Amino acid sequence: HLDGKVALVTGSTSGIGLAIAHGLAKRGASIILTGFGDEQLISKLKEDFTSKYNCRVDYIPADLSKVADINELFTSVIKLYPEGVDVLINNAGYNHVCLVEDYPEEKWDDMVAVMLSAPFHLCKRFIPLMKKKGWGRILITSSVHGMISTAGKAVYSAVKHGVVGLAKGIALEVVDYGITCNTLCPGFVDTPVTQKQIKQFVQDKGISLEQAKVDFVSKRQPTKTFIEPEHIAEYVAFICSPYAAQITGSAMPIEGGWLSK
Ligand code: NAD
Repeated sequence: HLDGKVALVTGSTSGIGLAIAHGLAKRGASIILTGFGDEQLISKLKEDFTSKYNCRVDYIPADLSKVADINELFTSVIKLYPEGVDVLINNAGYNHVCLVEDYPEEKWDDMVAVMLSAPFHLCKRFIPLMKKKGWGRILITSSVHGMISTAGKAVYSAVKHGVVGLAKGIALEVVDYGITCNTLCPGFVDTPVTQKQIKQFVQDKGISLEQAKVDFVSKRQPTKTFIEPEHIAEYVAFICSPYAAQITGSAMPIEGGWLSK
């Protein structure tokens, strides 16, 4: 259902963003990848898309903590697609787990820049073009931490709550133009971001990696298993379908029952 549509997915060189890009390409979209990665990784990722879906795939590098890079990313996208994109997935991010009293101030600035300001800057630049098209899908990857918090994740949850509000406001601003704007609120997804936290858990508790995975997840997620990136990707594909036209301003938990406890 996405033939002829163009999707820009930030943070698509790994994890959730990469799975979302695959889910959209599978449905016919042309993909613009962006995120960190060396030349070898990028060419492997591009080859994978071309061979699996025979789709157009481009890669544009950008450090989303820098407005100058965001401007260059926008300019490069417009060079490729003068009418802009149909699907904008603001997904790039990371976590830094630390108490507020010890939190490095430059880390706060970076977290806000990458996960709150970058979605704002990209939405600001692409929305006018989407309005002209009369159709669009905007998503921002928030987290369960966009709804609750955990000690050590106050900063992360501040930015993740922030994008939930941003998306609700945007949803109302674009509602007459065939555009929806929603956030994704995943629990623990098996990606490099989580693997880093689990390694820390192994060190702190002195337990095996396998045991740590079970303990770490089951403490929070009643399903006791990790969410797979594809669980998120298939939901995004649905949001980009005509059947999701009435879903806007939502913050969708995909968290194995975590928030029901
Ligand atoms: P990941 O590390 O696999 O991927 C992160 C992506 O973001 C990579 O492509 C990376 O290059 C990119 N990125 C990071 N900093 C960037 C920067 N300054 N400029 C440009 N790109 C940058 O992690 P993931 O788990 O797939 O995380 C994706 C999103 O999902 C993040 O926003 C994260 O907060 C959110 N999230 C993750 C989980 C989880 O359990 N993994 C849960 C909830 C929300």
